[in-house]
Amino acid sequence: MPVSATGSSLNNPRPGPPLWLLAELTYRCPLQCPYCSNPLDFAETRDELDTESWFRVLREAREMGAAQLGFSGGEPLVRPDLPELIAEARRLGYYTNLITSGIGLTEAKVAQFREAGLDHIQVSFQASDPELNDAVAGSKKAFRNKLAMARAVHEAGYPMVLNFVIHRHNIHQMDDIIRLCEELGADFVELATCQYYGWAFENREGLMPSADQLATAETKVNAHRERLAAAGSAMKLIFVTPDYYEERPKACMNGWGSLFLTVAPDGTALPCHSARILPIEFPSVRDQSVSSIWYDSPGFNRYRGDAWMPEPCRSCDEKDKDFGGCRCQAYLLTGDADNADPVCGKSPHHDRVLAARRAADHATAPLAELTYRNARNSRVFAKA
Ligand code: SF4
Ligand code: SF4
Repeated sequence: MPVSATGSSLNNPRPGPPLWLLAELTYRCPLQCPYCSNPLDFAETRDELDTESWFRVLREAREMGAAQLGFSGGEPLVRPDLPELIAEARRLGYYTNLITSGIGLTEAKVAQFREAGLDHIQVSFQASDPELNDAVAGSKKAFRNKLAMARAVHEAGYPMVLNFVIHRHNIHQMDDIIRLCEELGADFVELATCQYYGWAFENREGLMPSADQLATAETKVNAHRERLAAAGSAMKLIFVTPDYYEERPKACMNGWGSLFLTVAPDGTALPCHSARILPIEFPSVRDQSVSSIWYDSPGFNRYRGDAWMPEPCRSCDEKDKDFGGCRCQAYLLTGDADNADPVCGKSPHHDRVLAARRAADHATAPLAELTYRNARNSRVFAKA
């Protein structure tokens, strides 16, 4: 029987410890990306965990075996206690990664984080030029700041790790994006096509690239890979295609509650950062230890093993590979999180994914018509 890296398997759902902790420090962010994965009603979240509570979460998860720690958000730089959190994480022995838009970063802060022991910084961009970047980000100076801070991160001796979220409005820029990454001396570049959760699901029709756009982009990325390899460049291009164009779903989070633990800004513990959309009561680190949340809470045990699976997953010989796909995607596309992920060609709901692909072939909506991720729009969703 295939056994996952964590030692759990479908027939033996007792998991190993969480190895990855994603600390979503805040939902506050100065940008307004229409593909943001934060919840639509993020503006209603007011009570962020305080510094001491985060210290406790970091300590408890580390005692269980967590080794990788991501600080994300929202924009984690808005938390004034970020240097303290980094220092504590370093003291506990985590490998730490800051996932940032770069807005709010300064050279002094980069130096402060270095001093505190931060291992890794990933800076995200919205496009290869200021006009489109700032139009997508909903902010006039975003591109200029990002460029300056990407350079500052590099000069501080960090590996240059850049992330571009790719969608139908910037996918034509693949050549320019890769050239910009070379100019910046990038070591790793993640070209991640949107995954349709949160605000991206709301804006899916206006974001999803067509099959032709995707094929052209992939051809370009492969050509650049060959060119870079021939030139002896060490820059790595990682192109993440949207699973809406696959016939089998991804093994979401390597299996529910098997490896990844997300703690949201208000202390809600989640098996992935999108899962709070599900009609499941997830526990809070304010009320329970991380260990009892991970091993004993109904929310984390809900989709472990395979006893929950209906057909066609139940009798499928691929269920050890993909665990039935993504529960959030099943819920968003079928209204029932127990269903097979409709990305799967065996799902009775696969037609919904095919319809989205067809819609992407004919979409014409301009960027300005997307619903931007901001507090005003979020409050409208919260009231609905
Ligand atoms: S995706 Fe954009 S809006 Fe969302 S947290 Fe990141 S930078 Fe902010
Ligand atoms: S039917 Fe279920 S288990 Fe089988 S491949 Fe599709 S999603 Fe995976």
